[in-house]
Amino acid sequence: MIRDYFRVLVVDLFTGRGNVVTVDGRDTVAGGSGLAAALFNKYGQTSKPWNDPEQPLIFAIGPLTGYFPLMSKTVCAFKSPYHDQYAESHGGGRSSLSLRFADLDALIITGKAKRPSCVVVGSRHLDVKEVQYLWGMDLYATGKMLRRMFKKGSGHRSILRIGPAGENGSAMACINVDSYRHFGRLGGGTVMGAKNLKGIVIHGDGIFPLMENKEYPKLFEEVHRQLTDTDMMSKYHNLGTSANVAVLNDIKALPCRNLQQTSDTDIAGITGEKFAEVALLRNAACSGCPVGCIHIGFFREKFMEENRYLYRQVSYDHEPIFATGSMLGIKDCFNVLMIIDVAEKMGLDVMSAGVALAWATEALEKGIITEKETIVPLKFGNDKGYKEAMKHLSFGTNEFYRLLSQGTMKAAEKYGGADFACVLGQEMAGYATGEVFFTSQALGLRHSHLDSAGYSYDQKPKGKNIQDAVDFMVKDEQGRVFLTSMVACLFARSVYTDELLSKCLQSVGYDTLANNIKSVSQHIQRLRWKTRLATGFNPQGVVIPKRFTEVTTWKGSIDEDFLIRLKNAYAQRIIEMAESIQV
Ligand code: SF4
Repeated sequence: MIRDYFRVLVVDLFTGRGNVVTVDGRDTVAGGSGLAAALFNKYGQTSKPWNDPEQPLIFAIGPLTGYFPLMSKTVCAFKSPYHDQYAESHGGGRSSLSLRFADLDALIITGKAKRPSCVVVGSRHLDVKEVQYLWGMDLYATGKMLRRMFKKGSGHRSILRIGPAGENGSAMACINVDSYRHFGRLGGGTVMGAKNLKGIVIHGDGIFPLMENKEYPKLFEEVHRQLTDTDMMSKYHNLGTSANVAVLNDIKALPCRNLQQTSDTDIAGITGEKFAEVALLRNAACSGCPVGCIHIGFFREKFMEENRYLYRQVSYDHEPIFATGSMLGIKDCFNVLMIIDVAEKMGLDVMSAGVALAWATEALEKGIITEKETIVPLKFGNDKGYKEAMKHLSFGTNEFYRLLSQGTMKAAEKYGGADFACVLGQEMAGYATGEVFFTSQALGLRHSHLDSAGYSYDQKPKGKNIQDAVDFMVKDEQGRVFLTSMVACLFARSVYTDELLSKCLQSVGYDTLANNIKSVSQHIQRLRWKTRLATGFNPQGVVIPKRFTEVTTWKGSIDEDFLIRLKNAYAQRIIEMAESIQV
């Protein structure tokens, strides 16, 4: 049976105990992004720093999780170590279904454990286990140990864990989910580290009954058919997003060598086609997803002392390829996989880490820093240097890497080079399409290319009407916010229209939500902005570094005047949205 409230487990690491509480608001915040913001308003401390032990680490799922395919994400919310403001990061794997089968709409972790610990939850149990012996272990070894320790119910079990980056306070630390998915951006892994929390194991060991009415199975079949019959399935399953590497390169929109270029004639070795041809091992999928967009590549590793080879499996898509490939001048897909592999082991957000190292490489070229800072010779195209640098970033080996691991701008504040820091709120995503995308990522709530489709607006002949572009970003964000409140994978956005979502919600009994999608999505959008601004975000203070104005795309040079006016107008709209509701 559906519930008109949220069932939330709040775990206190100080005491090692938890409470299941009920939270109202199903008809106003829906779940996922909306629920996370509501819970942060209830449990978060807007004026205390991100690492205050009282700050909550929130994981929230949506009303359709378990009922329909691709409702497979979990929204993780926290106060971010990257900017000390409210942040959201989304991950998949088995996390959302495990929470659903554990009979939880959300899990909140507060407090700080006395010693390194692992939270283990299920539908009827909670345990906080001390796992000192895992502290310091890389992410792969940690995963292996946790899988051994918690063998039971592996199909319905989700394992979240951090690596050394999270333990050492790097603001670029991710939370790994079930090996091939991540709560990647804005430092969720660092929040776990600050709480002395090495892992979270969610046992989906309860029962989740489906609806017994006639409409639900019919609609499920229809949704499944649409998801598997359309282009979406083949697009994301076959080459996946890594197909974008060649496409963006062709239209001069691929960030290369710290965005000194937007295309490269020598890109053939790292295109999605090349990966599929020589390095793709298999596809995998999040639970409840028939698409299977996760591409797992391999590379061989030689163990010198034993004179034997092993192969390693590493997931890839467009973003990690751009961040460790074109951005770093790496031309070979196996070298890209090897760099990603080190970042994975360390538990780093590979996008931020790759882009930060691209800045460090140019800074070294320009003589702003020396090898005394970088320890290893960073040079575009030199994969060996980057593999070592990823470790330094993770361990904070010296002052330079400690600062860089807090964000490229933090390092630039000390050493100079802010003009060529590829930072749009956080290290940039892999699209250099133009003014609307740069504005969208710089000001977007998640500083993600997925906040709104600015990259797509740039690619259409829309002209330079500020009002149109701002309206587009606001409207597109609103639609996405409802989807992420359902915790839909955004790859399914063309299938899950408002009309279809309304039918889905109705078929499982959420009639009020089904009939109010527009007003609920608007409310959630405003609530998120209110929450972000309450924690210190000043949209009008956002600066887009000079490098982004020096870019040339297929449309020609960036129009700096348009970029600045657009940024200011969007900032104003964000403030208006935040001010339009009371919490
Ligand atoms: S399309 Fe990919 S990311 Fe989305 S749910 Fe399926 S496997 Fe996960």
